[in-house]
Amino acid sequence: MTPTARRRVLISGASIAGPALAYWLHRSGWAVTVVEKAGALRAGGYPVDIRGTAIEVVRRMGILPHLRDAHIDSRRCTFLDADGGTVAALSPCAVVGSVEGQDLEVRRGDLAALLHALVRDDVELLFDDSIAALDQSGPGGGADVAFHSGRQRTFDLVVGADGMHSHTRESLFGPEEQFHRHLGYCFAIFTLPNTLGLSRELVLWNTPGRAAALYAVGDHDELHAFLNFHQPEPPSDALRNPEAQQDLVAAVFADAGWEVPRIVRAMREADDLFLDTAGQIRMPRWSSGRVALVGDAAYAPSFLTGQGSSLALAGAYMLANALATHRDHTAAFAAYESGVRPFVAMNQALVDNGSARLFPTTAADLERRNAMLRNLATLPSAPAQPAHSALTLPEFARLP
Ligand SMILES: Cc1cc2nc3c(=O)[nH]c(=O)nc-3n(C[C@H](O)[C@H](O)[C@H](O)COP(=O)(O)OP(=O)(O)OC[C@H]3O[C@@H](n4cnc5c(N)ncnc54)[C@H](O)[C@@H]3O)c2cc1C
Repeated sequence: MTPTARRRVLISGASIAGPALAYWLHRSGWAVTVVEKAGALRAGGYPVDIRGTAIEVVRRMGILPHLRDAHIDSRRCTFLDADGGTVAALSPCAVVGSVEGQDLEVRRGDLAALLHALVRDDVELLFDDSIAALDQSGPGGGADVAFHSGRQRTFDLVVGADGMHSHTRESLFGPEEQFHRHLGYCFAIFTLPNTLGLSRELVLWNTPGRAAALYAVGDHDELHAFLNFHQPEPPSDALRNPEAQQDLVAAVFADAGWEVPRIVRAMREADDLFLDTAGQIRMPRWSSGRVALVGDAAYAPSFLTGQGSSLALAGAYMLANALATHRDHTAAFAAYESGVRPFVAMNQALVDNGSARLFPTTAADLERRNAMLRNLATLPSAPAQPAHSALTLPEFARLP
């Protein structure tokens, strides 16, 4: 490679972290290829938050006005007791520590589509393909990649942005179990018809260790349902079998009140059911040789923090900036890690095993949470969560 040749990077994963990184690396002169195992951009999905530091990232990318247009702007979050009686009704920002008028909540598919539109003319996008083998020991000094499609290419760097269950991470660092921190909950998400006439609001029912939520995003005729329950150990057997998954959820919620029996029945009919454990990825290092990880692949904080997309956006910016600042990738990866790790640690620390604020597991904790919610409802505005803004972004560098 001559000193003036464009450096080539392969990014695995085209959801949030992947396209965000592609955007910044293209801007600093890299030839970027993104490979995505899905056949097309994955649309739809649950709402995600963009907060604090990540707001500044999307502003610098020029997509903040579009994201403001896509903002879900829920009116209300209503908490219910076991019988469906109202405990408290609050502004959603107050509940999660977002800053009203500043932080955003958008459909995951809207965010992914905006990021995709930003890069699709400038980077090579390979859908319906993935990395089959990655070899860093070749004589050329690059990373030789064999794709499942049969393509063979060499890159200067490879970045895994392939999510919580990252294949790139597994091929470099070994099985996920070493890095997965179980947070003591299982959840099921799916959609169902909006027969309750809910509009731009979240309704959350709780008993100790169990929660059922219905989320009306906008005025659509569809609701996002969410069933969350305490499981101190991951139910590994049930997770492997879709029917066992549903039986597990149905058993946990068997005697539940409010609309829960109807929600559980809808789960059995849903064609988009997704069940998983709530967990985080915690790794001692985020790179090995010419390969680095970004977003959920390296530091998934779990949906319980609502910070996955924000960490992915901020991490992508910081990695690209480190690569623009340091020509040597080892120095760049070290700078990326030292710059982002404290931010990740603060956000991952927002939740620990069985300690999610919205999902208390004992009657006493549920009562304490309800008292806190009633108190919040009387405040003019809730305090912002410091962890969301704990990273100050450097100006984006350019190599001399
Ligand atoms: C129920 C739930 C609720 C959530 N709620 C929130 C929330 O409120 N706020 C928030 O900020 N975040 C939330 N998140 C998390 C958020 O969606 C992610 O943290 C965020 O999208 C991270 O983006 P990512 O690009 O790193 O990973 P992902 O979005 O997981 O994307 C990974 C991409 O890689 C692709 N891929 C996977 N394997 C391969 C492979 N072998 N080769 C090529 N491509 C591959 C996948 O198809 C996907 O497109 C939630 C998650 C869940 C499950």
